[in-house]
Amino acid sequence: MNQPPFSYWESSSFFQQIDIAIIGSGIVGLSAAIAFKQQKPNLRVAILERGMIPTGASTRNAGFACFGSVTELLDDLQTQPENEVFALVERRYRGLQVLRQRLGDTAIGYQHKGGFEVFTHTDPWTEYQHAIPYLNQQVQHAIGVPQVYTEAHNQLAYTGFEGMKYLIWNHAEGQIHTGKMMTSLLQLAKQQGVEIWNGVQIKHLEQTTNSTGVHLWLNDSVSLQANKVLVCTNGFAASLLPQLHVTPARNQVIVTEPIANLPFSGCYHYDKGYIYFRDVDGRVLLGGGRNTSFDEETTDQFGTTQGIQNYLRHFLDTHILPHQKVAIAYCWSGIMGLGNQKKPIVQMISADIGVSVRMGGMGVAIGSLVGNEGAQMILDS
Ligand SMILES: Cc1cc2nc3c(=O)[nH]c(=O)nc-3n(C[C@H](O)[C@H](O)[C@H](O)COP(=O)(O)OP(=O)(O)OC[C@H]3O[C@@H](n4cnc5c(N)ncnc54)[C@H](O)[C@@H]3O)c2cc1C
Repeated sequence: MNQPPFSYWESSSFFQQIDIAIIGSGIVGLSAAIAFKQQKPNLRVAILERGMIPTGASTRNAGFACFGSVTELLDDLQTQPENEVFALVERRYRGLQVLRQRLGDTAIGYQHKGGFEVFTHTDPWTEYQHAIPYLNQQVQHAIGVPQVYTEAHNQLAYTGFEGMKYLIWNHAEGQIHTGKMMTSLLQLAKQQGVEIWNGVQIKHLEQTTNSTGVHLWLNDSVSLQANKVLVCTNGFAASLLPQLHVTPARNQVIVTEPIANLPFSGCYHYDKGYIYFRDVDGRVLLGGGRNTSFDEETTDQFGTTQGIQNYLRHFLDTHILPHQKVAIAYCWSGIMGLGNQKKPIVQMISADIGVSVRMGGMGVAIGSLVGNEGAQMILDS
């Protein structure tokens, strides 16, 4: 006789009557779980997470609370309609408000230090400079905040940077402590009664033919059942649901040892956001460089490469800390979910399965909102 994988006790308690199963415990999955419980406290909500802790991008990002730099928005305008570019700015801004209100600024280590974009003398500065009034007008229309971008080149004198000639200051941005944000989200979800099961990798989803729920397959012979499923696996979405247009994109980060009297603070963008750096607890966090090796970085496998690590190190030594040799204390990578459009995918793919994926490298900003929207979509289905 084929042995059932679970005991009678397990089947009739742990695995009985799961109303909502969420796959993935990143910022989106946790935000969705909290939104479900806030609206329907009696629903049984379980998050199934393959890692010991959330293991994608949400614990591995740079913690920029940002909604778009000048060169990033101009770059987006090359490929996307104007209304979509600024609709996304609005969603990022609103997502950050949701995150801050949900957890509180102290809990997430929010610091309103501003966002900055720096330029060297070889960048086409006049083109960017001419675009500032237009972008200020559009962004004000989108988020209601006037004069977001200001030229502030004189501030460069206090940063200690070398080779940077121009600077744009965004007064409406800030930074968070990513670790504090994620531990606070996990804590809130648990307080609301969300069950979080770690070490559970879902291999396959099967909508029942009579639309009475979903089988979540752990391997060829073991499955769990839930009434509804929300997939929040972002950069890993296509391995579970290949029909989704989500491409994984690895992003590498380094953090230095603490530096006495670090001269700058705040979040800095360079080269359309392909390089980003900030202060954190007296250290420099620097990440990006994916554009130097697109093919190699189009992967859902974690890891660092000598090429990008050298590139980041060179940028640090040449531009950020030019007159001192500091040691690198941490390096890591995270996996983002990109696509042919920057817009996240929030949609039902069958009667009982929905997805909230493809954060486009901005899930700190937009993830809370996309989680909430996914929860609402499932409740309405
Ligand atoms: C290096 C880096 C820097 C970034 N910096 C910023 C920034 O400064 N500001 C910003 O706004 N955004 C930033 N981002 C993007 C942001 O971190 C992501 O958009 C966001 O964290 C995505 O959240 P998520 O919940 O959708 O996905 P994830 O955090 O990736 O969570 C998905 C979860 O699903 C789990 N999972 C996957 N497959 C399965 C499966 N089959 N079964 C069970 N579990 C599964 C994974 O283990 C993971 O925990 C950065 C990203 C990276 C990588």
